[in-house]
Parts: sequence; structure tokens; C-alpha cells
Amino acid sequence: MSAAADARAGALFAHHALLPQGWRRDVLLEWNVHGDLTSVAPDTARTAQTAQAAQAEYVLPGMVNLHSHAFQRALAGLTERAGSASGKAAGKSADSFWTWRELMYRFAGRITPAQIEAIAAQLYAECLRHGYTAMCEFHYIQRDVDGAPYARPAHTAERIAAAARQTGIGLTLLPVLYAHSGFNEQPLIEAQRRFRSDPEFVLRVVEALEGLRGPQLEVGAAPHSLRAASMAQVRELAQALPAGRPLHIHIAEQQLEVDQCLQATGRRPVDYLFDEMPVDARWCLVHATHLSASEVARIAASGAVAGLCPTTEANLGDGLFPLEAFLQAGGRFGIGSDSHVSHSPVEELRWLEYGQRLLHRRRNIAVTDRQRDVATLLWQRALQGGAQASGRRLGALQPGSRADLLVLDAGHPNLDGAAPGEVPGRLLFCGNDNLVRDVLAGGAWVVRDGRHVAQEEIARDYKMALRALRAA
Ligand code: ZN
Repeated sequence: MSAAADARAGALFAHHALLPQGWRRDVLLEWNVHGDLTSVAPDTARTAQTAQAAQAEYVLPGMVNLHSHAFQRALAGLTERAGSASGKAAGKSADSFWTWRELMYRFAGRITPAQIEAIAAQLYAECLRHGYTAMCEFHYIQRDVDGAPYARPAHTAERIAAAARQTGIGLTLLPVLYAHSGFNEQPLIEAQRRFRSDPEFVLRVVEALEGLRGPQLEVGAAPHSLRAASMAQVRELAQALPAGRPLHIHIAEQQLEVDQCLQATGRRPVDYLFDEMPVDARWCLVHATHLSASEVARIAASGAVAGLCPTTEANLGDGLFPLEAFLQAGGRFGIGSDSHVSHSPVEELRWLEYGQRLLHRRRNIAVTDRQRDVATLLWQRALQGGAQASGRRLGALQPGSRADLLVLDAGHPNLDGAAPGEVPGRLLFCGNDNLVRDVLAGGAWVVRDGRHVAQEEIARDYKMALRALRAA
């Protein structure tokens, strides 16, 4: 499958652009044929040269989506009916993360590599249209439907890479270590047969993906969770993975998981990980929802990124991350769409803040002494954390970074007459229109006037894949 649009050298003259140091005027952005920004020059005099470049009113860096299971896009919106009332009457939690997971497993059991690719392409095109320019794919369907290994160890991972290439989105591929169904090395259940891997398997996939690495694609690894990988396996994988590559892990998403970890190890999940392993800035701790005060401090001090997925965490009834305490401790975070009930960074960041307001019954929680604007803080911090978790050169409009940026629809009533500093607030906290007009990813214009350049073809393949899945 060909790429949606090829990177080529180009330039954009932004009347207002959000740079690492804040909003600047008359910014001439230039990038090379490899898709890297070569020059970002604020206060550029308006000349014949700037008049020749494409013009934009408001420009933001593209957002990083640090947590995705692409195939789950096909399930979004399909699991919103309550289970049997009798289950509840019997005292069971009839509808929880765990019942949702059963449905997800049934779906994962029959999906083909071609369908994985078609679903991922649809998702990535949607993510681009809403302002994500990079994904971190936590990829765990790695075996055939019967649980046998594919002839090529990276067979399904390569399909994910193909989808990213087709859409133009940047990608960090994280093949998953998935060896157990619970603490104390419980054997996998039948429904998890396609996920089965050990450190050696994951490292073979990493090796097989080596040739795909480049400016738009990085490869790390991901122990699924402390439920699904023993500490010895996590350590083995972390030590064998090439230095500097990102390591992601689900942790403390569910209270039940915390309880089981306490029972099995005498420690809470985050404490257990930190006691047993050096956890540093190459780590992304996904969810980290249920934390003690000392665990908040340990994550913040480590430099690891907390990978927050507010819409999925809300959808699954996980709980609320202690954002205020984490920010006060200097913690780093990024956002992901995980199960893909949302494809918009606006919605993730909005709900990250709203969850905290509902919890604390106060307004404007995500601020620091230096940054009092909620939306600006959320956008900039999620960018920095997401960039770190991606292991790629992202997150800022500056020379050497990838040319990943968003041009907002300055003609929209929500942005009319906005001073630059008001733009993030109007973007995040007003209505549901998509204000992202054009998107440049790795130096290629992949979204124009709100439409992905291969949108029709991608949607057609996606619908065909879903029809086949429904009929299977
Ligand atoms: Zn996840």
C-alpha cells in the first residue's frame, strides 16, 4: 500500500504559532525532504519570500497519542448495553472492565492480519484529522487465530506499520510481552492464545522490525502488565532491549489488579515495579490510576511518563488519576486513546481536566504557579510527555524535530478574533466541531480542509473488513 502523501521540503508562514517558549508571531517554519524541521523563525519580516509560503493564522504542534490498541477501534460503541440484571442481583459487577474484556477477547480471537491493517488505517486517519500526528501502538495480537506462530514473527506488527505508512502518521511500535493470565504466573487462558509471547519472542519481533525503523517509525517494547509478565521477564526484556528504546506497561488500572498484586507480592503494583527494577525516563506507565501518595512521588521523581487515557478510563469505569498531586510533584504525563472510544486529543484533555473538577469540586485544576492557563498547560505537557514516550523527535516546533503540525480553522466562529493565548482554551473547552483544518505529519500534508487525503479509500476498506468480521 502506498503512502498517503510523500514528504517533501516545504515552508509555512504562521501568523501565530505555539513554540516551546509560548506563542510567537510571524513564524516562518521550514522543513526538509526527510520531514524534519530545519528552521523555525519567529518575528520574520513579511517579504516576497514569506508571501510565497503557505499561510496560516494559528499553528500548533501535532499531538502524540501514546497509547493505542488499534483493533479495538472496531469495537468502539458496540459494548454500551448493560449485561443481565440477574448478574447484578447476584452481587457480581455485571458490567466492568472485566466483562468488557471478554467481548474484546472474542473479537480478537478471529480478526485477520488484513483486517488489523484496515482497522488501524481507519483509526489513524481519524486520529490525524483530529490533531494526532503520532501513535504509540501497544501491539499484542501476534499469533494466528489458532495460537500458532506466524511464519514471520512480526507479521501483524508489519500490518500496523503499513497502516501508519498509508495514512502518514508517525508510529512507535511496541510489541507486547504477554505470558500469563494473572499474578503468580498463572497460565494463559484459551482466549489469550493469540497474545502469547515471552521475552525471546518479543525480541525476535523487535529484530524483525529493525529494517522499518526510520524518522517516521521507532520500535520499543511493552510488557503487557505485571499480571501478564513476571518480574523476571520484565527485567529480561528491559535489559535486552536496545538502549534508549521506549518501554511501556499497563499498571494499576483497576482496583482489583492492585488488590491481587498486594495479595501476590505484598506490595502495590507501582511500588512492586520500582522496588524490583530501575524505572527511568524510557518508561511509560499506562493508566497508573490507583496510586498511593508515595507511588505518586516515586513516578514523578523517576522521570517516567504517566500514560493517561481519560475517555477509555471513563468508559471502562477505571477511576480517576491523581493529576493535581502528580503535577505538584513535577510528574510528566501524556495522553492516549487506548480503546478508541474517542479519536480526539481535545476530548482526552478536556476529560482529563473535567474528571479532576468533578473530583475536587473546583475549577482550573491543571495549572502550576508558572502556567495559569489550563488548556495551554495540558497541550504542552501532553506533548512533552507523549514525545518522550514515543522515543521520537517530537513535541515541539523547533529545528531538528519532526515537521508535525496542525493548522486550525481560523474562520470558525469559535476562533474568531482570538488572541493567540486564548486559542488553546477555545480549542479544548468549546463545543464539538473539529477545529483542525490542515495537518502536516513528517513533512507531508495528510489532512487538507478537514479531510484525510486517502479518506475514501481507507473508509471503504474498513467497512469491508468489518462486514467480513461480522459475518465470520
Ligand atoms: Zn491499553
